[in-house]
Amino acid sequence: MKTILTGLRVNSDLHIGHYLGVLTHMAKLSNKYSTDGYEVNFFIPDLHSIISEVEGDMAANTLRNVKYYLAAGLQPNEHVHFYRQSRVPAHSELCWILNCIATMGELSRMTQFKEKGKGKTTVNVGIFDYPVLMAADILLYDAYYVPVGEDQFQHLELTRDLATRFNHRFGKDILTVPAQTKEQVQFMEISNGVRIRDLLNPEKKMSKSTPAENSKIMLSDTPELARKKIMSATTDSFAKVRYDMFNQPGISNLLQIEALATNTPLDDVIAKWNGETRYGELKKKVAESVAVMLDNFQKKLANITDEEVNSLFERGEVYANQVANRKLEEVQEAFGLR
Ligand code: AMP
Repeated sequence: MKTILTGLRVNSDLHIGHYLGVLTHMAKLSNKYSTDGYEVNFFIPDLHSIISEVEGDMAANTLRNVKYYLAAGLQPNEHVHFYRQSRVPAHSELCWILNCIATMGELSRMTQFKEKGKGKTTVNVGIFDYPVLMAADILLYDAYYVPVGEDQFQHLELTRDLATRFNHRFGKDILTVPAQTKEQVQFMEISNGVRIRDLLNPEKKMSKSTPAENSKIMLSDTPELARKKIMSATTDSFAKVRYDMFNQPGISNLLQIEALATNTPLDDVIAKWNGETRYGELKKKVAESVAVMLDNFQKKLANITDEEVNSLFERGEVYANQVANRKLEEVQEAFGLR
């Protein structure tokens, strides 16, 4: 049985780009694979979070993060496992053991480490060691598919290297080497991964760090406010709807949002609106679709209780400890620690 593993970062302000690009996508994949012979692990990488100062209340943000996925349509079942990394001590233990086979040279080459350390006089060891903990997160569960963004591809390669080196050293396949990046991307349909654009400046992706309020629609915005933001989105002067991200990114972004918000194939949306000369009509329709989407999401979110999430963690952490401890023991035996 293959395992899919993904970390749910504790993020505060999420926008509809996260919702349409990541939350609903992961919810769909989880619903599909967990009923098709796969184990699907969702873990909260809280030990990763503390490499820099944590903003806000981590416990509350953790609960809210899981609620976001549930409200985005993720249906838990006995093959879907939610757990907090810090509640499964085997992550830290395997990290230490892998530290003893990883090299300073390879960790120093990690782009993320170099970028995070840029211009700083001191950098904590956690930032340096982050990829090894990530390798432990993956290898403890024999996870084969690990959907990660491009920024994590290098860390995934390191995980594959460490697993291969470990197996080679002990002459048996104790650790499962995760799939290559290309296979990951295909399986998790990451190539279909959409980028929702900034509403005011559609050449860029929608980002929480852009200060202009009208450039992004937050998941906490009222449907009414979301409607106004869509109506004031930047378009162009072609006066003809066409799906052309290069020349008409604003209009194309609206078509993309419409398709995802209404769960309609993009081609159908394009066919419907192609050649329309009144941009206002398209905007009205998209504004309505986004308002309905947010309203549904927010209503679902309000109905998910802390108890519900806590009981998912309770069940998930029992499962995760069992699986992870079994693997850790095998690793310890190989090293002669047991
Ligand atoms: P960030 O908020 O930039 O840390 O991104 C967290 C995750 O959300 C990453 O997997 C991004 O690829 C995804 N993401 C961020 N912004 C967008 C966007 N505008 N459209 C689609 N996905 C996004």
